[in-house]
Amino acid sequence: MKIILGGARGSFPVSRPDKTRYGGQTFSLLIEGDDGTQILVDAGTGLTNLKPYWRAGGTVCFTHTHLDHILALPFLMDAWPRQLILPRSDLPDVLKRVFTPPTWPVPLPPADFTIPPQPARIGGLQLAWHEVAHPDGCVAYRVEEPASGAAVVIVSDIEWPLMTAKAQDRFLAFAKRADLLIFDAHFLPEEYETYRNWGHSTWEDAIAVAEQCQARQLWLAHHAPQRTDDELDALNVALRERHPAAQYVRAGTVATLPL
Ligand SMILES: [Zn+2]
Ligand SMILES: [Zn+2]
Repeated sequence: MKIILGGARGSFPVSRPDKTRYGGQTFSLLIEGDDGTQILVDAGTGLTNLKPYWRAGGTVCFTHTHLDHILALPFLMDAWPRQLILPRSDLPDVLKRVFTPPTWPVPLPPADFTIPPQPARIGGLQLAWHEVAHPDGCVAYRVEEPASGAAVVIVSDIEWPLMTAKAQDRFLAFAKRADLLIFDAHFLPEEYETYRNWGHSTWEDAIAVAEQCQARQLWLAHHAPQRTDDELDALNVALRERHPAAQYVRAGTVATLPL
């Protein structure tokens, strides 16, 4: 299984010379099975970096429908997915409301919006999801490849401290022993109290989760729009002592699983 990260920025796309190494495009991730099956998780503006790898007719899964996760969907107009999944019934309505005049000029092509029972089999990949704490709701995805034993868990947006102990335990069971955990680390621990209820976690939360679910590798994602490359580099140096396999991840990073 191959993972390609198109964009790791959170909330808003940014474009500045001091934000090029980690990228300014919002969250989008391509998962490709060894048999060629493609699952795209979210259509943030980082999707524009994934288009060269994407083939029409694949599956797009949404963690939720905040703008930073759906904005680039029309970029796939000429290579449209067969299936769009959000395990919530309002996806077609939300997309229709956003991508319609006067907020968007061209209607989206039709697609299959059926919510499959989970775990859903998509080619050689298996897809499961789990509800997490975030304003308006959000799901984490676990994508496994039974043939290779690879597993990746994607949690683009989550406010870990707002989840009850029971809900945290259920999530840890869901994420257990992933080769790669991709987790929202938008805020710094010292920023968190100011932004409680904004829907995001910190690198401390992400590392605690990675340790408890025994993830082999941790990508910290949903970088705050104001965070510069130099700040993220410095965080990565400091983090190495806390967790050898944790890093704020750069757009364009590729992983081959299982590790
Ligand atoms: Zn987001
Ligand atoms: Zn969100």
